[in-house]
Amino acid sequence: MISRRQIIIGTASALMAPGLCFAKKKWDVIIVGSGVAGLSAAVSSLQSGAKSVLILEKSPVIGGHSIVSTGYVSAVDPKRQKYKDSPELMLENMLEIGGHKNDTALAEIVCQRSFEIINWLEDVGVKWEPTLLQTAAGLFPRSHISNTVRAGYDYVMALNSYAIRHGAKLLLNTKVESLITEDGRVVGVTASLGKDQSVPMYAGAVILATGGFTANVEMRTRFDPRLGPEFATTANPFGNAYDGATGDAITMTEPLGAALKDAQYIQLIPFWGGRLLDYVGGDIFVNKHGKRFVSESASWKEISEAVLKQPDKEMWAITDSQSRKGASLGIKLMNQVVRKANSVQEMASIMHVEPSVLTQTLDTYNRHAKINEDPIFHKNRFTQTISVPPYYFGIERLCVHFCCGGVRFNKNAQVLRKDGSVIEGLYVCGEASGGLHGHDRMGGVALTSAFVFGKIAGKHSISQTA
Ligand SMILES: Cc1cc2nc3c(=O)[nH]c(=O)nc-3n(C[C@H](O)[C@H](O)[C@H](O)COP(=O)(O)OP(=O)(O)OC[C@H]3O[C@@H](n4cnc5c(N)ncnc54)[C@H](O)[C@@H]3O)c2cc1C
Repeated sequence: MISRRQIIIGTASALMAPGLCFAKKKWDVIIVGSGVAGLSAAVSSLQSGAKSVLILEKSPVIGGHSIVSTGYVSAVDPKRQKYKDSPELMLENMLEIGGHKNDTALAEIVCQRSFEIINWLEDVGVKWEPTLLQTAAGLFPRSHISNTVRAGYDYVMALNSYAIRHGAKLLLNTKVESLITEDGRVVGVTASLGKDQSVPMYAGAVILATGGFTANVEMRTRFDPRLGPEFATTANPFGNAYDGATGDAITMTEPLGAALKDAQYIQLIPFWGGRLLDYVGGDIFVNKHGKRFVSESASWKEISEAVLKQPDKEMWAITDSQSRKGASLGIKLMNQVVRKANSVQEMASIMHVEPSVLTQTLDTYNRHAKINEDPIFHKNRFTQTISVPPYYFGIERLCVHFCCGGVRFNKNAQVLRKDGSVIEGLYVCGEASGGLHGHDRMGGVALTSAFVFGKIAGKHSISQTA
């Protein structure tokens, strides 16, 4: 486990740089945000000939959501995949999951360049596991993961140490408040260096890599009024961590006339505690009345939408003694996230559900599970009935996970106005950007997109400023 202190020590040289003296020079490129999108842009701009790169990060530590991410990176990989795959198939999958609302040309760039990114990260220092996995929200096994248990951390550290080694400067605790323009072109940023200290910093180009807006309740309810303060985020499920995902790219670019794309599509995760299984077939979901309301084999998006319509926007996940529960069972029982009961009656009483209703729900389900058919909700996979005590059950609440949309951009990662014209000198990449994912995101492709368009932004910004 890596502590925040270690992360800060890892970037100590950057921390010591005095912000005020950084404000005096003109940089080739200023990058706002130190997640994988911003750090990819930094590495790529240096590799493309940038002489002076400044990364500004408002938090006291680097990494944003990237550093806490599970770390699955979706890519077509002729070296490691032992089955037929192609960028075309990956694109088809992205479009299917995105409801064909994606900007196809941009999504195609991610798929076409995904293997290049795997090799590029390897050159920067990432070591990949040889076996690829299929994520829960993916349609094909193409998820790469680095060979330690801290994958997101590994990507951030590899990119950051490359960037710092090659001359990039990093300022922590430095929030970019606004963009400076001259004749419509972005020429710098205004950054606050702490209490009452706001300074202009100038650059040939500015790259916004500020992440999504999942942590900004006001902004997320503007785009999806259902997602109020009662929902935690997956980056901060217990509400006790710093989370910089406040949609600053949107706040800064809207006054310049930038267009937004698909900001209303905010990805939720319906499982963040009470469910024990990580596979389909061994459990059922019931609402607070003890009734099923959705197919347990549906997508996260469909399950989340169905949960939003339930009383209290919660559900119970129920399994029994026959399923494979994984290593978390002991700890979940200990802190009562998951409960155990020796009969349906006892379970119903703990859940405050009418016993006859829950009995009927289970009887009906078990009858269908025995013949592998669900005429009511059309579940497509059954591994067992739920009939052998003890029963295990836990409450599940929705968590806000990922912003599928954000600031609109083009194939060079340049920010676009509503009329489609480019805002010169301004780039966006990573979760701050919108258009790639349509109404839902394929598993593992948020990181791929952040790497691909971070790399593109870094290179293009230098070609324009040289
Ligand atoms: C728990 C979790 C697990 C995930 N797992 C996966 C996965 O396995 N695969 C996958 O593809 N995706 C995953 N994701 C999504 C993925 O991690 C993110 O979409 C991605 O990391 C976003 O990268 P980014 O660089 O765009 O933003 P971030 O990594 O969030 O970085 C943005 C940075 O910008 C800083 N910032 C914001 N505003 C300002 C400002 N005004 N001035 C200065 N700095 C600013 C923030 O503090 C932050 O450090 C996961 C997300 C979470 C929360």
